Amino acid sequence: MRIVLATHNPHKVEEFRGIVAATRPDLEVVGYDGPEPVEDGVTFEENALIKARAAAAHTGLPALADDSGIAVDVLGGSPGVFSAYWAGQHKDAIANRDLLLDQLRDIADPHRAAHFVSVIALVTPDGREWTVRGDWPGRLAHAAAGDGGFGYDPVFVPDGQTAPARTVGEFTADEKQAQSHRARAFVALVPLLAEL
Ligand code: IMP
Repeated sequence: MRIVLATHNPHKVEEFRGIVAATRPDLEVVGYDGPEPVEDGVTFEENALIKARAAAAHTGLPALADDSGIAVDVLGGSPGVFSAYWAGQHKDAIANRDLLLDQLRDIADPHRAAHFVSVIALVTPDGREWTVRGDWPGRLAHAAAGDGGFGYDPVFVPDGQTAPARTVGEFTADEKQAQSHRARAFVALVPLLAEL
């Protein structure tokens, strides 16, 4: 069966393909190159559904879309749905994470709790819709480290590590894939794929 992945982010496509291959090797994931809808939702769920609905309508295939970001406790859950353009609409990943580090510059470790969030929407051309969510708890680092992954990976230190704790930027792709918010959301998605 074919399923369309409504993302233009090559890092996410790669992560999704790895996760799908490990859990549903019978699914053929195809890319989406149709029109991009305006993401004007104010929750991860709304934005994921907006993207998946557009891809399902354009391709006539079941569509998956992920909306994700980082939520910092002391900022009341921001950047949240604004993660991609926290430092401005030019969507500069380094400027985004530098701004976040600057905002928390004087904040000590016990108050630097944050989590990555991934919401995956599954929409079928006949109008059935589901969303699932994965959270990856951790804290914000004091400085960027590592050049793996993308976005906020170099400034996010997941919980549950033995010292010395590393950022996701210092993880291998396999390590990230085994634990990430997207992987956790996907675990919740697998039973829904059986509905197709
Ligand atoms: P989206 O593509 O509209 O869902 O925006 C997600 C934004 O959240 C990205 O631009 C990244 O800044 C951030 N983000 C989401 N997932 C990750 C991740 O796995 N690592 C690092 N940053 C992420």
